[in-house]
Amino acid sequence: MKLTSLLPLLPLLAGAQACLTPAELQGGHIARRTTGTTPPANNTNTIPVGKGDRFRNGASFPRGIGTQPTANFTTIFNLVELRSAVKGLAKEYGIVPFESPFKTVQHNTIYGAKLGNTSSTFFHVLLQAGLHARERGAPDTLLYFIGDLLYADKHHTGLQYGGVSYTLDDVHAALLNGLVILPALNPDGIAYDQATDACWRKNRNPASATSGNPATVGVDLNRNFAPVWDFAHALAPGIQAASTDPASEIFAGTGPLSEPETKSVDWVMDGLPNLGWMVDIHQPAGVVLHGWCHDSNQATDPSQNLLNPAYDGKRGVVPDVPGLAYKEYKQLTEWDVEVLTAGRMADAMTDATGRPYVALQGPHLYPSSGCSADHGNWRNAVNSTRHRVHGLGVEAGAPNLDADCPFYPTVDMHRLNIIDTSVALMEALLSAARHKW
Ligand SMILES: [Zn+2]
Repeated sequence: MKLTSLLPLLPLLAGAQACLTPAELQGGHIARRTTGTTPPANNTNTIPVGKGDRFRNGASFPRGIGTQPTANFTTIFNLVELRSAVKGLAKEYGIVPFESPFKTVQHNTIYGAKLGNTSSTFFHVLLQAGLHARERGAPDTLLYFIGDLLYADKHHTGLQYGGVSYTLDDVHAALLNGLVILPALNPDGIAYDQATDACWRKNRNPASATSGNPATVGVDLNRNFAPVWDFAHALAPGIQAASTDPASEIFAGTGPLSEPETKSVDWVMDGLPNLGWMVDIHQPAGVVLHGWCHDSNQATDPSQNLLNPAYDGKRGVVPDVPGLAYKEYKQLTEWDVEVLTAGRMADAMTDATGRPYVALQGPHLYPSSGCSADHGNWRNAVNSTRHRVHGLGVEAGAPNLDADCPFYPTVDMHRLNIIDTSVALMEALLSAARHKW
């Protein structure tokens, strides 16, 4: 079969919408945002953005559904509240906040916190959210979960998320990993999306923009990490794992880690010599993804790897075809652990609220390049003194088909997303506790 005859099948592989709509996968946009001739977008049936600062500059702190099972949250955190929540958690529980040295184009700071294994400098797991601005409430889910873990630890209680519960011993095991959180990785994009309802995915870097075409602003941060960033060179012709068109929703930027947001993640990883796991939180595809992102895995031929130029132009075709047979090498034990963990995460999410979840390798949804989940393993590939990092992506929930921006959840969906993401993170942490390097 020729590659050209294979390409029309790729959108079918995507099945449900993920971080991209089927139209966006083909290079299009959500219509009402870009035409300018249609009525204003209708996002009335979506959870509103909070006003002011419910955490009063860190005077109070978030607590999720795991420690207060009847809680309901009727607004999502605005940009001020995201930062204030971390401040509040630091004040209440002594977690250690930090800031990246890289400022965004709108002078926002990428910040995070370290917590858990406070008796040592061992930090084994990175949890991050907010790369895609429009996936509203995803940063909140991380902060609510962390709020639950810390509350449960301090008050000696377990956690209950819908049909799934965890003991205090589980809480201790999760925290003993040593955790680093990056809750709001795209502050410029989040601020813009919350101010405009523009269903905005990318950051707000105007460096590649064309005057009069607002869609050309911004870089897709989840295509800007280093692994196979140069997809046009590394992958087979026609595999649109990212885009070189600034108007695309999957514009990869001008170089690997060209953006302050992705540089910040790399900088955080530089400071975590014992990092072994990372989970990247997204919405709303109902999947748990494990790497590699750009092609299927194999565990028998180490020469088929992303740094080997002999395979440039051959990667990214799923399923393989004659002449384009390539699968990315992954050590067998590492692959086993990731499949097991992703499966347990998906199972727990379904057990929690009954919504269906599946675990997939990334390219079985669609191949992508420059993805965050593979960045830790790329760092190991170019410098073997660094650990490999199990990279996982959580896509909580389902699209909101009543809204023009299907990435904006309803109040009810947001509650379910908090529960599902919490159990996914808990399963990942319990697996990380069992599988240290
Ligand atoms: Zn996303």
